[in-house]
Amino acid sequence: MAEPNTLLLVLLFLAVAAGWVLGRGAASRDVPEETAPPSQYYLGLNFLLDGEQESALKAFSEALAVNAETFETHITFGSLLRKRGEVDNAIKIHQSLLSRSRLPDIQKNQAHLELAKDFIAAGLLDRAEQLLKDLLELSEEHQLEAKSLLIEVFEASRDWGKACELTESQLGELREDDAHQKSAAIKARAKLSHYCCEAAEDKESAGELEAARELAERALDWTEESVWPHTILARLDQQQDQPRRAYDRLVTAAKMSSERLPEFAAQLIAVSESVNCRDELTPLIATLLTQREDPQLRVILADEHRVRGDDAKALEIIKQGLNKKPSSRLLMQALTLLGEEVATPEIIEGAQKLASRQSAYLCGVCGFHGPSFYWQCPGCKSWDTLHRPVR
Ligand SMILES: [Zn+2]
Repeated sequence: MAEPNTLLLVLLFLAVAAGWVLGRGAASRDVPEETAPPSQYYLGLNFLLDGEQESALKAFSEALAVNAETFETHITFGSLLRKRGEVDNAIKIHQSLLSRSRLPDIQKNQAHLELAKDFIAAGLLDRAEQLLKDLLELSEEHQLEAKSLLIEVFEASRDWGKACELTESQLGELREDDAHQKSAAIKARAKLSHYCCEAAEDKESAGELEAARELAERALDWTEESVWPHTILARLDQQQDQPRRAYDRLVTAAKMSSERLPEFAAQLIAVSESVNCRDELTPLIATLLTQREDPQLRVILADEHRVRGDDAKALEIIKQGLNKKPSSRLLMQALTLLGEEVATPEIIEGAQKLASRQSAYLCGVCGFHGPSFYWQCPGCKSWDTLHRPVR
């Protein structure tokens, strides 16, 4: 497969050739001073043939004339550079576009928007915020995208109050009798719920438990489908000497979304012990397993039997799981339970290593994977898209 640099250069080379011809056409009509200097184009070719890709890239970018016809090509270059992580070069291209007084306002505003994306990618959030606020004043056409990017800026700067405010205003503009807008409204409500949960956890960390509770309850008002507000409220209940209420909440959350139970199983087990109800977990999880086969739940259920000293029942549950939906974690549990009867310590250790990889999380949208769970994917910034793949 070609290196990313080579791919980009080929695209750039073709675009410069096309852009230069277009630029010449435009020059012959009305903008003679912006014709591309052919020397830069040939210089770029020389660099390319000599294998000096970075220099070739720079020369090609400079060779492409800026005018209304080649504008889109420049925007595409800039966006490609940003996606490659070369944010500085993307910023240079977009700033250079903004310095052209001949461009129509709509194209300047588009360059403005691209520059804001560059600043977000570079982590220059204050600058991005200011640019986007200016753009909201300047351009009717870019309102929607500018608002979405501004929300992205507020998310990245963890300013959940501002993110809520803007998302609520977007939600207010959606008409729910239209199917597409209705689906956007559902997504907006889910996001609002996540923002409230983030804000609630910030308040919880600061020891402001009542403010945290208010925010978690607001999260539930936005959508009842997420278990996150329930787990926060249960933690607050525990801290405020209400373990029974915490237990009931977590049981409700487990029934509502059993696929998320592994994320709060430890919390549920601890609370169940504090209210002397741990025995109730075994039938609860067994019932959930009859509704949906899940190797993670099976491991939790087997562990509950082991804790009660019933290794035979634990092994039976694991064997059933290996039959229905095998995973490396189930295999590790089986080997551990069988112990020296069938496996040496080395084999058990090998299975444990395999199983520890299996517990990694995977984003269903962008493929990001890692050892820890996040409500917002660190890769694509989507919410509630990380899951544990069965391996
Ligand atoms: Zn992702």
